[in-house]
Amino acid sequence: MRSLTKSHAFIDGHWVPVEQSFDVINPADGSVIAAVADAPSSLAERAVEAAHRALPAWRSRPARERAELLYKWFHAVKANQRALAELLSLEQGKPLAEAEGEIAYGASFIDWFAGEAERSYGDVLPLQATDKRAWITKQGVGVCSAITPWNFPNAMITRKLAPALAAGCTMVVKPPQLTPLSALALAQLASEVGIPDGVLNIIPTTDAKGVGKVLTEHPVIKKFSFTGSTEIGKTLMQQCASTMKKVSFELGGNAPFIVFASADLDLAVKELMTCKFRNAGQTCISANRVLVQASVHDAFVDKLTAAMQQLNVGPGDQDDVDYGPLIDSDALDKVQRLVREATDKGAECRIGGEPLHEIGDLFYAPTLLTGVTSAMAITQEEIFGPVVAIQQFNDEAEGVRKANDTPFGLAGYFCSEDYRQIERVSTALSCGMLGINAGAISHCYNAFGGVKASGIGREGSRYGLAEYQETKTLTLGGF
Ligand code: ADP
Repeated sequence: MRSLTKSHAFIDGHWVPVEQSFDVINPADGSVIAAVADAPSSLAERAVEAAHRALPAWRSRPARERAELLYKWFHAVKANQRALAELLSLEQGKPLAEAEGEIAYGASFIDWFAGEAERSYGDVLPLQATDKRAWITKQGVGVCSAITPWNFPNAMITRKLAPALAAGCTMVVKPPQLTPLSALALAQLASEVGIPDGVLNIIPTTDAKGVGKVLTEHPVIKKFSFTGSTEIGKTLMQQCASTMKKVSFELGGNAPFIVFASADLDLAVKELMTCKFRNAGQTCISANRVLVQASVHDAFVDKLTAAMQQLNVGPGDQDDVDYGPLIDSDALDKVQRLVREATDKGAECRIGGEPLHEIGDLFYAPTLLTGVTSAMAITQEEIFGPVVAIQQFNDEAEGVRKANDTPFGLAGYFCSEDYRQIERVSTALSCGMLGINAGAISHCYNAFGGVKASGIGREGSRYGLAEYQETKTLTLGGF
């Protein structure tokens, strides 16, 4: 395997060493994988200046040329899929096969936006006056910045970088402290295929606050994109207000997964398993509140119990593992707290309910709770763990009301075989994305994003490019 493990900051096409470093830990066994540059905020400023210098040449290239470089980067990522997946699995903990899936998913954004770069159309307006003509055009916003989370160390970066670069923007990225290696490896491949110096820059750091301030307040930056918690997102949005940046925020979710009496229960179980246990439940679109209509509750719980008993938990590099460790001890403590509070308040723990210390410090058992109510914190907070928390409801109106009873609105799911019900419920649910008889909804061609406290903006799809563009109207007179 070729080593793509890089440990310096990536600025202006160069690997920049830093005196201070921080350790990246393998969550499966606590071992140190690498010591990575702990960049101070002054380096973030240097990176912004480099991105600013690189902008004029990059934005003035024909879209076809930018697309060709992105296609080269895409092929380089695909050619190194296994090595990137091994690195990702090591630093993040997800099973190797799932990590390979993330690399393919992450690469798909580079491929997709290479194509979109060439399809950035404007409008020719119908004649409104005989002496004038008007057009609406699109133009890259300029220098961009991004802050990304640890649960998808590769894909959360390509989902921002690829549309930015396609639109003719340059970017500075702060990857998460827990998983910086996947980001640095992407930069290495981008540099090898000839993406020009300064067009993308990666700043690993433990000073999220200081570097974050530069990336949200520097006047040269025109657009900021964030994926992470709602709490931090709100702070960063305030910081962006000082220079009125264009912003995208993909924040926390509290996804409902509704099983109506009309559902195909076997399909519902299969899709819930896919949705819930991917990345050990550590995704912002993971089913957080499972709402089951009372008349099918017991049958559904029996089928789900049988499916969950088949789950295989272990280190990501072990064969046939369904999910791996949680990311750190804070994550494990949170899951334990939520499960304990729910059972203290009367929820029944059907299976699991405890850590699997015999495997390692951060593994948690597949856990199924029934009799959950909205008075329990597990229905209000993101679980981010392998726990299914089931509530009951009596009729469609109650199911929808409960599903919408949250400040969040990222993903939602429901299972129904009744087409009229599908139409009604799709309209009624306040979510940016819905999976209908489908637990896997993330694709490069879908518009990913939320409503309410789950954020602003969309990633992927043709809408993902527009997030990095200004709309400019041209009126030409004198006819
Ligand atoms: P998560 O729960 O997914 O870790 P966070 O919102 O805490 O969500 O983190 C997401 C990203 O935001 C990470 O890269 C983290 O380093 C960064 N971050 C956390 N706090 C701040 C902050 N005050 N300013 C800027 N970035 C921050």
